[in-house]
Amino acid sequence: MAIRVKCRHCKTEMGHIPDRTALQHGQVKQLKEEFAEEFITQDEKGSLTITSTCEHCEKTLQNNPNYYEMKNWIQ
Ligand SMILES: [Zn+2]
Repeated sequence: MAIRVKCRHCKTEMGHIPDRTALQHGQVKQLKEEFAEEFITQDEKGSLTITSTCEHCEKTLQNNPNYYEMKNWIQ
C-alpha cells in the first residue's frame, strides 16, 4: 500500500510515501490528523491518495481566490 499526495487542482503528484515504513510509524494516522478526512481517499487496492494543494496552485489561489472554485469544485 502506497500513499500518494496529489494536488486537487492540477492533479500534480506532489509526493509519494512508500507503504510499510509509513504505516509502521503511524504516519497514516498522523496524515489523517494533518489533512482533513475528506481529502483522503482509498482506492480498491488499498492505496491512499491525499488531495492537497501544490505550491503553484496555492499561489494562484492567493492571487485569484475565485479562480478554481468554478472550475474544480464542481466536477
Ligand atoms: Zn496544483
